[in-house]
Parts: sequence; structure tokens; C-alpha cells
Amino acid sequence: MSVPFIDLKRFEDGITEQYTAKVNEITKNTQFIGGKEVEQFENSLKTDNSVEFAIGCANGTDAIQLALRACGVGPGDKVLLPDLTFWATFEAVVNVGAEPITVDVDLQDLQMDFFLFQEAVEKFKPKAAILVHLYGWTSQYVYEFRKYAKEKNVLLIEDGAQSYRVKVNNESIYKNAYISTISFYPAKVFGAAGDAGAVLTNSKELAERVRSLGNHGRELHYSHGLVGWNSRLGNLQASYLNINFPYLNNRIQSRRRIAERYRNDLKEFQVHTTPGLKSLDGTILKSSKTGIQIEENGYLNVILIENAKREKLIEHLKKHQIGYGIVYPEAVSEQKGAKPYLKHKIGGENAKRITQSVINLPLFPYMTEEEYEEIIKVMKSF
Ligand SMILES: *Cc1c(COP(=O)(O)O)cnc(C)c1O
Repeated sequence: MSVPFIDLKRFEDGITEQYTAKVNEITKNTQFIGGKEVEQFENSLKTDNSVEFAIGCANGTDAIQLALRACGVGPGDKVLLPDLTFWATFEAVVNVGAEPITVDVDLQDLQMDFFLFQEAVEKFKPKAAILVHLYGWTSQYVYEFRKYAKEKNVLLIEDGAQSYRVKVNNESIYKNAYISTISFYPAKVFGAAGDAGAVLTNSKELAERVRSLGNHGRELHYSHGLVGWNSRLGNLQASYLNINFPYLNNRIQSRRRIAERYRNDLKEFQVHTTPGLKSLDGTILKSSKTGIQIEENGYLNVILIENAKREKLIEHLKKHQIGYGIVYPEAVSEQKGAKPYLKHKIGGENAKRITQSVINLPLFPYMTEEEYEEIIKVMKSF
């Protein structure tokens, strides 16, 4: 029996019908740009995350660029980011003309190392930093990052592309961020029918700048106060996201259940998670140094295994037709594309070590019992 790494086709009955009806309606009205679907979606985002402002945009990469530009980050400015993240975080910094500096990650939670971050702030005096919430959880120091950044006047942008419905002390991870970004790429936990993204903030001023930048710097239809670009969220995408919103709870529950079962059933492997993680029954698995309680969204399963063994495990999984991922195979600072832009990095080689030892097992909503048991059987026979 084969099990895919991810199967986007496991969505609930009725979604295609609802979407087809919306496509018909929107096409008849030719209301493709802007309109009530986008408005409804932005309102749902605000309510769901207890933030003041939500602005839809074209994708998660643009969302970071919009946030950076709205914060006034541009040529000559230094921006810190973790050495372990999706490449888009780095691209966004370079695309706004700023200078990226990578910060190594913490081996406990695999997120940007807070102590190295402080060191980097002192050493480089950056204008901004991007804190990425990777793997479906966050840093146990997330509050400390925010507090320290504020004290030092470093504009902290949170790349929450992977962290929809991650909760910190029972609140949305996005709630108390200065400005945060989301991706609705179909393979994220909350996926659109194509590309889509959003920026969330509690600042009216930032929200207005984001909205204007993503709509040709508009003040009025033909009055342009800024040079932005076109990064609008389309009405069709928004309608698909609106239709999917009510199903999100079930999907996240399904993901979290699988994530938790992996931890319980694969004790001989190092199924990784963050200190402070709250399991489904409310217990804290490994207490955090900061006392924080983190609820995961089950975005990815993360296993760390020594490199030589990983090669063998990959062979074994391939032989038994079990899908797997390597998220990510290279640290940001090791990427060929980073060379022309990366003048400084801080910390050691933790990110590199993780890339050499990480492997991800299948994790998607509505995985069947048979599929799950097959994965466990194959893993136990390794
Ligand atoms: C997916 C992702 C992005 C980019 O989002 P897109 O919608 O694909 O542009 C940015 N950062 C992280 C951490 C991501 O996982």
C-alpha cells in the first residue's frame, strides 16, 4: 500500500459544488477584483485571529514584501532572518533592496535562536527582522523576540506562512505581532485554489500602507501616493477561502491528532517538537524555559536522524512506497542564490545540521487509519 507525502484531494464533500456555484456567480457578475468575497474573507481573518486589520494579497511572498515596504524597509537597511526557512523569506528581503543577515537556529525548537538574535541586533543594528514560525509551531521565546525588538527599535515582521491556527497561550500567534504575514498556497494548512496571501496588523497606519502598496500605491483610482505594485487578492480565490473557512477546525484537529500519534508511536525516532507544546489533552510535553504554552497546527512531521541513517531510511520508505519530505535540504546561507546578497551571518551551523538530518513523514488531514498504520509498520521495520 502506498501513502503519499501529502494529498490535497482530501477535502470535504460539497466544496467543489459550492465553489462551482461561486465561480458561476462571480463570472456572471464579472466581479473578479475586489468585492464582497474579499471583504468577507478579510473580516473572517480579523475575527479568527483577533487582529484589527487584515489585507488580502497575491501570495505569501508578496505579503512579506508588503510588510517590509510598509515598515519602510528598503535599500541600505539590514534585515535579520533565520538561516532555516523557506527561500521566499530571503527573497522578500532582497526584493525590497534590503541587506539580509541570517541568524542561526535553536536546536530545541528549530526556530531563530533568540540569544543569537540579540547578539545580531547589537552587532548589526538592523532596521528590521523577520521571525519565521516554522514547521507548525513557534519559538518558545516568541514573546521575548517581540519585547526585545520593540526595546531596540527593530521592526519585527512575523512570517506566519506555515502557522495558521498555531496558538500561543490560547491566542492566535498573529494576534500580538507588530505585523505578520500568511500564505494560502494550496499545500499550507489553509490553502486557496491557487496563490493567495494576507498581511495582518493592529496598526491602522501600517494597514493603510499595505493596502495601498499592493494596489499600485493608490490613494484614489488614478491618484498614486506611493510606488507599489499589483498584489491584490482576487475575488475567486477569496470565495474559495471563504467556503473552506468552516472546515478548518476539523482539518487542523485531524492534523494535530496525526502529529501527536507519530510522537507516541515512534518513540524510537526523534519526532521533534517545541518546548512548551500543549498536547491534545492539555498536558505540556516538555516544559519551556519561558513558561509559554504552544498549540501546534500539525503542518509538518519533523524527525531528526543522523545523515547516514537518513539515506537508508529514505531507501526503505521508497521501497515501501511511503512518501516523505526533506524540509529543508539546505540552509538559506548555503543556497547558491544567497551568495551575491549575503554579506553577514551570525551563529554556527545548526541550520546546516538540521538540513542534513531532517526528514518528514506524511501528514495531511483525513489520512486513513490504514494509511497511518502502514506508515508505522514500515517505520517499525526499519
Ligand atoms: C510558503 C512560504 C512562503 C511563501 O508563500 P507563497 O504563498 O508560496 O509565496 C514564505 N515563507 C514561508 C516560511 C513559507 O513556508
